[in-house]
Amino acid sequence: MVNATPQEYPNFVTHLECSMNGERYEAGKLHGLSKVGRPLLVRYDLEALAKAVTKEMLAERKGGFWKYREFLPVTKTENVVELGEVMTPLISMPRLAKKLDVGTGEIIVKDEGRLPTGSFKARGLALAVAMAKELGLKHLAMPTNGNAGAAMAAYASHSGLRTTIFCPDDTPEVNVSEIELQGATVYRVNGLINDCGKIVGDGKGTAGWFDVSTLKEPYRIEGKKTMGLEIAEQMGWKLPDAIFYPTGGGTGLIGMWKAFEELEAMGWISSKRPRMIAVQATGCAPIVKAYEDGVEHAPVWQNAHTAAAGIRVPIAVGDFLILRAVRDSGGFAIAVTDEAIFAARDEVAREEGLLLCPEGAATFAAYKEALANGQVTASDKVVLYNCATGLKYPIPQVDRTLDRHQPIDYASMA
Ligand SMILES: *Cc1c(COP(=O)(O)O)cnc(C)c1O
Repeated sequence: MVNATPQEYPNFVTHLECSMNGERYEAGKLHGLSKVGRPLLVRYDLEALAKAVTKEMLAERKGGFWKYREFLPVTKTENVVELGEVMTPLISMPRLAKKLDVGTGEIIVKDEGRLPTGSFKARGLALAVAMAKELGLKHLAMPTNGNAGAAMAAYASHSGLRTTIFCPDDTPEVNVSEIELQGATVYRVNGLINDCGKIVGDGKGTAGWFDVSTLKEPYRIEGKKTMGLEIAEQMGWKLPDAIFYPTGGGTGLIGMWKAFEELEAMGWISSKRPRMIAVQATGCAPIVKAYEDGVEHAPVWQNAHTAAAGIRVPIAVGDFLILRAVRDSGGFAIAVTDEAIFAARDEVAREEGLLLCPEGAATFAAYKEALANGQVTASDKVVLYNCATGLKYPIPQVDRTLDRHQPIDYASMA
């Protein structure tokens, strides 16, 4: 453990651990996947952490995920990279709750679109970049469906690190542009995210970059873990009944579950955990299929297609961790169609004034379906994750015009 100086925070990392077989790995060293090709999890001395930090201390700090420094692996403050992170708001949707006859329950949106670069990828990539800097890396590479690349480019440029990024050629235009503008070199690849991931892996030796693919380095999960810490703090350390999470690689779902496990071990929350609900699109639903088949791993999904690019992930290296969290929590996995996703986006925007991204809208579509078929009840307090700002996505054009030189029919506007 590093001693705390006035400017420094104590660090409680003890070691890293293979998520598959528990094998230990030394902290403070460069790591990718474990020897058996599975994600590594950071482990902490939670007893010491619980003695060093109090809920009151956290309440006094300014918002944003860096306030949870003692729960995170960065040892030196000089490696922390900040772009104006905020504690993202929980926004209740009372009008839709009424419309859906939700009695004593509540529908709450956690709006992650307010983070730097407009998505919750900021959490994971801020941590990955800070740790890359701490471990002396200079050049980072990743495959992305858009938001992860934008977040990595922004945080890496702010830290003075170089980035090379590969995205499927149908990645939303704005994502490709923002990645390049924020200092990365970005390539459009005629394939899916797993094809891009292969390029990152194959090029490592020659190009000399470090692979920051989802879960292939240990720290993005720690960044996404802050979603669980934040939601616990915001809700007075009492967790909701269910969390609907749009699941691609699953970093956030796995990270939140890890946060709850750590908080419970510290005695900060009770053993009552939310049901974790993995939401996917019917055009790419490997986790839903594995959940329904009762298996631990999800085979690659063929011909993946959905307009919700963030959850178009045909294969996930942390599949068994997602499925474990879903099953251990008494949750479930559910797929919704693109039509339902866009209908949900329009409904939430119109009724509640919240412009969700398609992936976020998928959680509302899934919630409605689950409510209708009894998988959740009208007394459940549920949190839906809106992972990015809706403004980053193509939105319907408006054709209504007005000729100011002609008489205006104000009566029709009454
Ligand atoms: C990355 C992403 C997801 C999926 O998040 P994971 O934690 O990787 O499963 C969902 N929606 C959007 C908008 C994303 O950028």
